[in-house]
Amino acid sequence: DVRPMVAGNWKMNGLRSALDQIKAIADGLDGPLSQKVDAVLCPPATLLYVATALAEDSPLKIGAQDCHHHNSGAYTGDVSAEMIADLFATHVIVGHSERRKDHAESDELVLAKAQAALGVGLQAIICVGETQAERDAGQTLDVLARQIAGSVPEGASAGNTIIAYEPVWAIGTGLTPTAADIAVAHDFLRSRLHERVGSEAAQMRILYGGSVKPSNAREILGIAHVDGVLVGGASLKAEDFLAIYKTY
Ligand code: 13P
Repeated sequence: DVRPMVAGNWKMNGLRSALDQIKAIADGLDGPLSQKVDAVLCPPATLLYVATALAEDSPLKIGAQDCHHHNSGAYTGDVSAEMIADLFATHVIVGHSERRKDHAESDELVLAKAQAALGVGLQAIICVGETQAERDAGQTLDVLARQIAGSVPEGASAGNTIIAYEPVWAIGTGLTPTAADIAVAHDFLRSRLHERVGSEAAQMRILYGGSVKPSNAREILGIAHVDGVLVGGASLKAEDFLAIYKTY
């Protein structure tokens, strides 16, 4: 059985003053639900070490938002997967659309980052999703096929990799695809994963991301083939993150 996951991506938000929100999320997860549903929070790299300490005795797992594809070296300003694992974080997001766009990250680079993550025992959360222009041109499934083939490592399995379907046009806009569109995209991703990594590994979780809020979480989490959500803006407040989590 697939173990659902609610993950939060703080993006470039979160100063020391936000640590009380991480503590509140960690404390708020205790209870029987945490036996069934995973919770992961991805604060900025600057807060990773203290976040893992705050989450230590709770069900909350901590992840990073990106990693370099090499473990160390002359890469000024970059943070490696090994460094993230060294801070007791367990997950890392790779291939978020904001990295693909703002940092011109290719499928090939995202693949290398995911491989680096798996190589040090981190779970990779690999993001895919079409832009508005691609959707308008009827290319959604082509884009998803290309991203799965190009950015999911062959060694990916249900135990070490999570896919996040994030339509770019739904991120931070308040817009979401219809339930039917999400179901079609997730079903398609599953079939492409099957081709890429085989039937057993293809059972990896596929999260939906893009304008998930407490008010729409129930509908989204109820859609076929949706194994959880990746939440941006609404993960910044412990109250909202916990409300989404408790929808399960
Ligand atoms: P929002 O939930 O703010 O739309 O962001 C989604 C996202 O990009 C999560 O990675």
